[in-house]
Amino acid sequence: MSYKLFIPGPIAVSAKTMKALTSAPIGHRSPDFVALYQSVQPGLQALFETKDPVFLSTSSAWGIMEGALRNVCTKKVLNCMNGAFSDKWHDVANRNGIDATPLKFDWGQPVDPEAVRAELATGQYDAITLIHNETSCGCMSDLPALMAVIREFPEVISLVDTVSSFSAVAIPKDELGIDIMITGSQKALALPPGLSLCSVSERALEKAKTVPNRGYYFDLIEFLKNHEKGMTPSTPNIPHIYALRSKLEDINAEGVANRHARHLRLNNLVRDTIKAQGFELFPAEENGSRSLNCFANTRNLDIGALNKVLKAEHAMVIDGGYGKIKGKTFRISNMGDETDETIIEMLDAVVAVMAKTPVISG
Ligand SMILES: *Cc1c(COP(=O)(O)O)cnc(C)c1O
Repeated sequence: MSYKLFIPGPIAVSAKTMKALTSAPIGHRSPDFVALYQSVQPGLQALFETKDPVFLSTSSAWGIMEGALRNVCTKKVLNCMNGAFSDKWHDVANRNGIDATPLKFDWGQPVDPEAVRAELATGQYDAITLIHNETSCGCMSDLPALMAVIREFPEVISLVDTVSSFSAVAIPKDELGIDIMITGSQKALALPPGLSLCSVSERALEKAKTVPNRGYYFDLIEFLKNHEKGMTPSTPNIPHIYALRSKLEDINAEGVANRHARHLRLNNLVRDTIKAQGFELFPAEENGSRSLNCFANTRNLDIGALNKVLKAEHAMVIDGGYGKIKGKTFRISNMGDETDETIIEMLDAVVAVMAKTPVISG
């Protein structure tokens, strides 16, 4: 049985994208591949708002999130943590034997720029990790304010995860001075999982050149050398790149500003409709994500039961909460190709099912 995903990734993939995915593979060292690779660069650079190259990695986002850290950190990394993904980035640093300090905030609280300044001012760090949009708790940190602080410390390379906000809201990489900006395919880009994208500044690449033991698969210098020839270091998932090209056409046809406006409008529509059902946003309103909403389950509804009915009767699913806030929260995505029509259809279904969903007993 097929059903539609309103979880914050992976999300629904359009028929046009699915068709592009079935393009026959071509040789990854052929002129046809070079043409394909180079054809997506201008659209990607426009979306990243950067003059730097955009590397394509055949991996999920974690591949690059782990690899990038190994490429640029030789002293110590500051891991800003306010949800499941940012907590895990600290764990990943530890597993790689990288000296790492956790800078912890409660889940749902944004990362505080002043706390970042105080820590970076100790002078111990040469890298910082930051998640723009903490998907686990629907919290979006103030990236311009954070980057303004980080830019005060030129020795610190910034690694910014924009996995669930990229292309949903404007993130001007060069203007903000982000060194390594990372995203994945299955969130706001509405591609299937399995491709990640990252744009790397010149100074981050210069730093990487001085770092031993960068590994091979995620070596940014290998990516750079191949990029200069219009290629990737190893055989990429070529069908995904066709799908990416198709998606960039869609984004171009809609217009990037229109795309951002659509996401904001749909995000508000979900927020207002579910709040009218007696729920509250999990983070403070002003910190709420614009690509999804994470609600506190203030009515204590059995979201697992709700999802079963939603799936059986309406062929849709929402998300029942992530990690330690599973059941206490639920999340609804407005990423990708959703329209006023599809979001209203989903909300009508969710509200109807809520009316007959039991509360959790005990
Ligand atoms: C989904 C997500 C990731 C992990 O992506 P994978 O594709 O599973 O590697 C990382 N960070 C954020 C903020 C995410 O939402």
